[in-house]
Amino acid sequence: MKIYITFNNEALPDFKAGWGFSCLITGGEKNVLFDTGCEGRALIYNIEKFGFTVYNIDVIVLSHHHWDHTGGLFDLLTLNNNIEVFIHSTFSINFANEIKKKALLRISDESKKILDNIFTTGVLKADPDEQSLLMTTDSGVTVLSGCSHPGVDRILDVGKTFGNIYAIIGGFHGFADLEILKDIPIIGACHCSQYIDDIKMLYPDSYREIRAGDIIEIA
Ligand SMILES: [Zn+2]
Ligand SMILES: [Zn+2]
Repeated sequence: MKIYITFNNEALPDFKAGWGFSCLITGGEKNVLFDTGCEGRALIYNIEKFGFTVYNIDVIVLSHHHWDHTGGLFDLLTLNNNIEVFIHSTFSINFANEIKKKALLRISDESKKILDNIFTTGVLKADPDEQSLLMTTDSGVTVLSGCSHPGVDRILDVGKTFGNIYAIIGGFHGFADLEILKDIPIIGACHCSQYIDDIKMLYPDSYREIRAGDIIEIA
């Protein structure tokens, strides 16, 4: 499986940076986009820079309603009307109705199987409520988080019910309990993470810099 970072606060030289997070997961029976950054233009630019088009997206999973994770959604749905979109019930009714006009909408608060080896955590209560994505492969469980508003510890606890944690990639909003990351082989703290320098210092072998344009291969 490959994870293409399609949106992030930092970007490689050929890619566009912007506040937010998005990544495209390929290698399964469908291509899954997790979150959509803060706007569509840079998102689509980055997707195309990787050699994909919006028509290569089969499924979109949104973590939470914040603009920096949903901003690019409708630009994608306008171009490709054949996408299945997974949200949870704490998104607004208006937002859900707008999606329904352009896509196949799936609403679930429980952990949901997206593909054979990709699952949502289900909604974790926070401000705002958020779901993360779990990918299970031979290496273990790869966790993709939007902002981690419910707390990285709670998200990892759900991930652990699927197996050993192999990687966590995404925003670690306000998360400072860095000790609990110690056995994770790949730590891709990015986007809104406040303690990236400390993570880098504590776990130089596991820390993985994440920018738009990066590709993470998971065996
Ligand atoms: Zn965010
Ligand atoms: Zn957020």
